[in-house]
Amino acid sequence: MLRFECECGNKTAFFPTGDVDEQGREVLDIEDDDCVNYEFADKSLMIKCKFCGHRYVLPQFEDFK
Ligand SMILES: [Zn+2]
Repeated sequence: MLRFECECGNKTAFFPTGDVDEQGREVLDIEDDDCVNYEFADKSLMIKCKFCGHRYVLPQFEDFK
């Protein structure tokens, strides 16, 4: 499980669905999509808290194996 907690206290998690893609990676789904918005843009993952509007970005890391 991948937990997310905003500085305002809003929290949710991404949980494994049991589905595995063709490369052997397990697919995550968001626990509560009323808590955050997320989208992908130019090799980064952006997460926006729906409570306070704070935005986060997770940049792509090199050498993912
Ligand atoms: Zn927040």
